[in-house]
Amino acid sequence: MKRRNFLISPPALALGAAAAPALALSAPAIISPAARILPREGKGPRIVICGGGWGGLTAARYLRELIPNADVVVLDRNPTFWSGPMSNKWLVDIVNTDFVQHDLMRPANRYGYKLLQTEVTAFERDKKLVHTTHGLIEYDYLILSGGIRDAWDAWFGDDQRAIEHTRRHYASAYIPNQQMFGLKQRVKDFKGGTLVMTLPPPPHRCPPSPYERACLIASHIKKNKIPGKIVILDPKPKIAPIGVGYKQAFDELYADIITHVPNARVQEVDPFNKKIKTSAGELKFDEAIFMPPHQAADMVWHAGLIGKDATTGKPTGWADMHPHLFHAHSDDNVYFVGDLMGAISPQFGHYPKSGHVANYIGRIVAKYIAQRVAGQEVKAMLPDNLCYMMVNTEPQEEISVKFEYEVDAKGQVNQTQIDMDVRSGDLVKEDFAWARGMFSDFLAI
Ligand SMILES: Cc1cc2nc3c(=O)[nH]c(=O)nc-3n(C[C@H](O)[C@H](O)[C@H](O)COP(=O)(O)OP(=O)(O)OC[C@H]3O[C@@H](n4cnc5c(N)ncnc54)[C@H](O)[C@@H]3O)c2cc1C
Repeated sequence: MKRRNFLISPPALALGAAAAPALALSAPAIISPAARILPREGKGPRIVICGGGWGGLTAARYLRELIPNADVVVLDRNPTFWSGPMSNKWLVDIVNTDFVQHDLMRPANRYGYKLLQTEVTAFERDKKLVHTTHGLIEYDYLILSGGIRDAWDAWFGDDQRAIEHTRRHYASAYIPNQQMFGLKQRVKDFKGGTLVMTLPPPPHRCPPSPYERACLIASHIKKNKIPGKIVILDPKPKIAPIGVGYKQAFDELYADIITHVPNARVQEVDPFNKKIKTSAGELKFDEAIFMPPHQAADMVWHAGLIGKDATTGKPTGWADMHPHLFHAHSDDNVYFVGDLMGAISPQFGHYPKSGHVANYIGRIVAKYIAQRVAGQEVKAMLPDNLCYMMVNTEPQEEISVKFEYEVDAKGQVNQTQIDMDVRSGDLVKEDFAWARGMFSDFLAI
């Protein structure tokens, strides 16, 4: 096997399109990463979406609907979709695996876009080319929707041994992949002692969800009478969002299990000797769920589209983009959808990095591209956000947070946050209805 060529067996390559079944590859096939693959189809624009998660799959569906002759291609490294939302509930067996893990071919076939299981590795934006491990793919418009990456280097520099050890033993599974099963096994195997959870500094993926995870693991500890404690090391000065609701849950349901430590910024981690030092003190742990700072997925770095801090000139870690139109400042053929997006407003910074927002922005970006293709004026649109969080399992009760947005007289987007701090069973029903509605929207379930 030559270094630049490799053999693909059929399961390694998922390729589907209801509108173009002839594209299914006859495998095994030799494909070179340097060869052009997926020739354009029809006369419509070619839109390549890098990342088939909450945002990317939504954009794909609506692009196919709004621009019927568009040649839409979704690229994802994973063979299946794994949902972040509801995954904390899956960790403690409130929902089954088939509630959070889904077939990617179903929406591809239903909505008529192409799907390729591959790794996006680089871009030649001047030639409008995406590099993948399977070959080069042309585009007219490019959507980057790869989610986040864990910035382990913020803790360990280039100490790859420490990074690998931490990833293997203490991963948070905040990025959809097989880490979820490892994490679930660790929760099941936890027989007692101190379980430490670190929260990343804002902005990060789904801010209320680490507290939900703490509550659900605490409910598992309580139910199974495990002699264990959870220590949440939080860099923020207080719990947020839904701070009152979470504090009540910690105090009223898990007083002897959960300790929340504010202002705990991680300074040193020794994963081998199970020690962590923060600005709020040092701790030894038996088990850990570690979240280093989150940043935009590697693909934004590969595309050279990471923002720079206006004062320091250092990378912001997030996409450099127009705050209302969501395309790159330096390249209006490249759009951003989902968690990798950069700051929106001086008032609140980033849109919440949630599946709800990723879905909303996916729809908005599909509209923006459709308006451009039709030669129409692009009209800026705003999303909203809604997150439900389970805090109690016996009985099942949730709290929630809602965000609304409006543009002020200066043209800046302002945010209103509405916390629902009173836990209730009604919110559980709303949550499941929300999740089913979302899955129906972009997974065709
Ligand atoms: C525990 C937990 C609970 C959550 N709870 C909620 C909730 O209740 N409500 C809510 O709204 N949100 C929630 N979220 C947040 C939600 O999961 C994310 O905000 C959402 O997934 C963001 O969508 P996205 O499309 O930006 O990224 P993702 O959904 O992560 O999709 C990114 C995709 O890009 C692919 N990818 C990345 N890089 C490459 C590459 N180089 N090549 C090929 N493919 C690549 C990945 O495989 C992935 O499929 C939760 C998240 C977690 C982890």
